[in-house]
Amino acid sequence: MFVGHYAAAMAAKAIEPKAPMWTLAAASQLVDIGWSAFIMAGVEHARVDPALPGSTLVLYDMPWTHSLPAAIAWSVGAALLVMALLRLPIWASVIVGLTVFSHWALDLLVHRPDLELWPGGERVGFALWNFPVTEQALEIGLLAICGAMWVASRKTLGRFAWPAIGFIAFLVALQIVAMLSPQPAGELGPESGGLILAIYLVVVAVAALTDIRPKNSGAT
Ligand SMILES: [Zn+2]
Repeated sequence: MFVGHYAAAMAAKAIEPKAPMWTLAAASQLVDIGWSAFIMAGVEHARVDPALPGSTLVLYDMPWTHSLPAAIAWSVGAALLVMALLRLPIWASVIVGLTVFSHWALDLLVHRPDLELWPGGERVGFALWNFPVTEQALEIGLLAICGAMWVASRKTLGRFAWPAIGFIAFLVALQIVAMLSPQPAGELGPESGGLILAIYLVVVAVAALTDIRPKNSGAT
């Protein structure tokens, strides 16, 4: 799952508009932001098998980001961090933590069994990646439903809908580019990790734009 993860950020923003959108976008993908950095650093490992349907990734070693205890630790850590650094209220911080955990829950649906229930333990995953059309429909469907929730909440708050719609369109475009980009077979190297990390950070920056309030204007 790639852009479908950001659906969780949109639902969270609709529920708790006080949480900044860049924080929620980073939260929904935090586990993969850590993963791409760890692939870069050689801490975790993966390889590409172009013969696989859906995602061509073979995620054979990622205990520090995608095991269940790791995902819980990242979620709690993120909630505490935004409370301390961004001074978010407790409820908004809890929402950020839940958004981080949503990543593991959504990965569970699509990954082939590569998510460890404990480091070195049993691996789980419902493998929707083996049904690429269904998997893509799930990601885009989640974006549509949660995006609609987000747009509706912005309207309630008297804010423009178009920045949210623009962000959703950007994500759909990104998904298409990712789908059409060929991935060379073999071990996923530091360059690939770095490129994936850069893409995640660009998405966080674009998400931040949706919270900007135009000055000297009645509407926001
Ligand atoms: Zn992931």
